[in-house]
Amino acid sequence: MKSDCIVIGAGYSGLAAASLLAKQGFSCTLLEKHTAIGGCASFFRRMKFSFDVGATTLSGVQKHQPLGKLFDVLQISPELKQLDPAMIIYLDDKKIIRYQDKKQWIQEAESHFGKKGQAAFWNEIYAIDNAIWQLMDKNPEFPPSNIKDVFTIASRLSNIKALPLLVQLFRPMDILLEKHGLHHNALFKRFINEQLLISTQSFSDSAPIVTGAMGLAYPSETYYPIGGIVKPAQLMLDSFRKHNGTLIMKEEIVKIKNTSSGEYAVYTAKGNEYTCTYLISSIPIWNLSDITSDSTIHPKAQSYAESFPKAWGAFTVYFAVESDFMPQSVYNQVHTKSTIPHCEGDSFFMTYSMSDDIKKAPQGWHTITISTHTEASQWFDIPQDIYEQKKQETLTFIMNEVHRIFPELEHAPKEYIEAGTPVTFAHYTGRHRGFVGGIPHSVETGFLGLPRNNDGLQNFYHIGDTAFPGQGTPAVIMSAMNAVQKIVKHNHTVI
Ligand SMILES: Cc1cc2nc3c(=O)[nH]c(=O)nc-3n(C[C@H](O)[C@H](O)[C@H](O)COP(=O)(O)OP(=O)(O)OC[C@H]3O[C@@H](n4cnc5c(N)ncnc54)[C@H](O)[C@@H]3O)c2cc1C
Repeated sequence: MKSDCIVIGAGYSGLAAASLLAKQGFSCTLLEKHTAIGGCASFFRRMKFSFDVGATTLSGVQKHQPLGKLFDVLQISPELKQLDPAMIIYLDDKKIIRYQDKKQWIQEAESHFGKKGQAAFWNEIYAIDNAIWQLMDKNPEFPPSNIKDVFTIASRLSNIKALPLLVQLFRPMDILLEKHGLHHNALFKRFINEQLLISTQSFSDSAPIVTGAMGLAYPSETYYPIGGIVKPAQLMLDSFRKHNGTLIMKEEIVKIKNTSSGEYAVYTAKGNEYTCTYLISSIPIWNLSDITSDSTIHPKAQSYAESFPKAWGAFTVYFAVESDFMPQSVYNQVHTKSTIPHCEGDSFFMTYSMSDDIKKAPQGWHTITISTHTEASQWFDIPQDIYEQKKQETLTFIMNEVHRIFPELEHAPKEYIEAGTPVTFAHYTGRHRGFVGGIPHSVETGFLGLPRNNDGLQNFYHIGDTAFPGQGTPAVIMSAMNAVQKIVKHNHTVI
């Protein structure tokens, strides 16, 4: 089967790229290994309940931000509810409320962490966040892959104002904390570190100020997708199909080759072959390296896979609960009393479905998804009984902590209490070693050093959370939009 474009993987990034390409008139085939779309932002059902598997929170939906732009271009309107408070953080005996309004949030932060430095710190965080979104919005060539990109970016006068931001790419968040006299504020650092971990996947000693600022700003603006995070993905798919796109499920790509006519051929586990002019891969860089050994893509993919050998794994907990209780926010970050067994962070993130979200749970019930960071390799290559024991220990610890913070839930009827590990993610999403959440941002590896979505490789584009700009649904959508923009431009040049 031959098409203009093949997109590998129907997660958020693959769906975004495929739907945009189809809308532009390209014939497009989307190949997905699993039986459901969405990848790390997918769902699973247990009888009358629907659970988000990983991602639960949307952000970046304003008009100038990636999801906002995508919805606009595709003319789709997912049912989203903006939350205020956007998130609650339970830290020791404190309940810290991330208000949407900046002033209100700064007052809240001052009431918990003391007045010193808070206002100046948060004002700087929001200013950097705002500036970087605008910069990326105006410069799809960012970060430059070649000298032409450098000249294009340099030629835009508006970019001169953003030059001071460049320095902040190479300085860790700790420097900003020090600047505002907050580096010795132990409680605040605990708070900041766990907020950074769920956004940049790194801590204040290594998260670059630029991406750290984006990570710290996002918890003040969250959106709850009614029916689950897969709903916007389903609307992308509807748009894709409306524009004659073809989705083929249960089709796992196992090999990519160049053809003699300068195209790409992909081969699937079922023995099928598809060819295309433009190939867009949304699978992680490690997986890409594994399936490209017979193609021109391999040297670059392998070098990236070796440069970024690791990412986090996720431990997840799911359950349905029958209760009238509704926490003050759907999104809750819970700092635990001690380190979670077999996990690295000191907190977990708990999403509690809204009372009237009957697409997720019937009236009177809620579905809950909890996730936390774990070192992925410890879950592989161990005897089954040890694996089950570790899983049970982590699950029990997390459930006890849920009951400590929300005693209302302790005796409430529960169904389908289940847990997932990196092994589970590797199985369902195919992600190498269960690595999720993209490449952790750090000053050592550098934000600009993240894999590009096109590295001068003829008609090949890498998108998703291991391509620039990295983690989270807004970032993966941005990588997809950047790739599509380049393909459209290239196509106009060649015809
Ligand atoms: C526990 C957890 C919580 C998170 N929370 C949030 C959150 O609240 N908000 C947020 O914005 N982000 C969150 N994230 C991050 C977010 O989910 C991801 O960044 C994003 O969904 C990644 O999308 P993607 O398209 O890059 O990759 P994926 O979602 O991994 O999609 C890749 C797709 O490719 C398919 N595939 C893999 N290999 C092959 C193959 N060989 N052939 C064909 N198909 C293949 C997979 O099945 C999958 O459908 C979270 C992630 C996790 C794991």
